[in-house]
Amino acid sequence: MCNGCSRRGVERGNKKVLAHRSDHRSDRVFRRILFDRARNHFAFFNLDPSLVAAGSDLDFGLVRDHSSKTKGLCAHRFDRCAASGSMTQSKESVEARVERLHAQGIIDMHFDLPMDLYEKRAQPNVLATEFLPEFEAGGIGLIGAAIYIEDRYLPERGLQVALDQIARLYAEAEQSKRCVVCRTHKEIWGTLDSKKIGFLITLEGVEPLGDDLNLLRAFYELGVRAIGLTHARTNAAGYGGIFAASGSSPEGLTPFGRELVRECERLGIIVDLAHINPAGFKEIVDLTTKPLVVSHTNARKFYDVERNISDEQIKLVGQRRGVIGINSVLVSPAQKESTLDCYVDHIEHVANLIGIDCVGIGFDFFEFIYRQWPESKKKWMAEKLTTPHFIPDLTNHSHAPNLTRKLIERGFGNDDVAKILRGNWLRVLGEWL
Ligand SMILES: [Zn+2]
Repeated sequence: MCNGCSRRGVERGNKKVLAHRSDHRSDRVFRRILFDRARNHFAFFNLDPSLVAAGSDLDFGLVRDHSSKTKGLCAHRFDRCAASGSMTQSKESVEARVERLHAQGIIDMHFDLPMDLYEKRAQPNVLATEFLPEFEAGGIGLIGAAIYIEDRYLPERGLQVALDQIARLYAEAEQSKRCVVCRTHKEIWGTLDSKKIGFLITLEGVEPLGDDLNLLRAFYELGVRAIGLTHARTNAAGYGGIFAASGSSPEGLTPFGRELVRECERLGIIVDLAHINPAGFKEIVDLTTKPLVVSHTNARKFYDVERNISDEQIKLVGQRRGVIGINSVLVSPAQKESTLDCYVDHIEHVANLIGIDCVGIGFDFFEFIYRQWPESKKKWMAEKLTTPHFIPDLTNHSHAPNLTRKLIERGFGNDDVAKILRGNWLRVLGEWL
């Protein structure tokens, strides 16, 4: 469980939120007992599916007169009990559920793929050889492929490197024969239906635009469909949230930043709230009308830095029926607490605050880049930003089924898992693109 949040989180979870949460083992034991007994009693009542999903916290006696008690047991803000808890679900093995939930392709809204393709531009088939096997093992359907420009290229080469990253992504996708760049909601659906892997090009920090609004249109035409104004840096559009509890600029967006936001919404480019400082976040909320998107972040409740988002910000996203993608590298300030359970704690926290329809995946898998760095660069990152804490069994896309298994183990029903893995992003993408 997560640092700080954790003990309290667990207690709070047990009492208020997860009345039926159990450990996996006891859940299995309960179900066996339930089914043994049910075999003798099924003829006498219809077993309420929600009670089966509720599992181990119930005494079998409750099942007999469940009708009056079910509502109370399921009175969570997001109703995990009601979500597809059926006899079918209970009988289906966990592995079969994982396979089925991944069969149509899951959506990860943030991955630093283009920068790696650019750095390896002299090598052929990098996507097909280094990434595709992991995407396929993870049942990945759509990835937010983020253009990011490292400091060493700025300012002079920012535009060129961004264009090269886009070019590499298209070329590598074509060579792979399995991946395609998607520009519209219809193309995303088509890609998922054809069991291919789609990329939605995103821009993390508008440095490549400089302060030229015209270039926004050019990037749109090249396929960019989501833009976060800043990384942790300051640029012509605004100020990034820093990796500390306070201390970023109290200023919101610049006039250029405000123009960009308005033009993004007009063109149909998602304005991504990840990384922006708190004042900028609020300003973007006020300037836009569509569902709010935070492609990859974590809850400050568990890791209190400005780069993550506060409960108040989470609620703003909920009011606009937006989606928050949970990041895998900033779940806790402590490595030993950076676990799959902690990742799920973030999902639960967001779902408890604003509903299960507003949380998704933004893995931000970064370990493959970090491990290529020399020690000096890792040290630089630790001093300038933070040390990323990778979750051992969630470091690349082939690990995505581990998350699904964990969600099932923690009591999420099939419908809710499907929303987290895919459905919520599809809904919001449909409203923007
Ligand atoms: Zn980021």
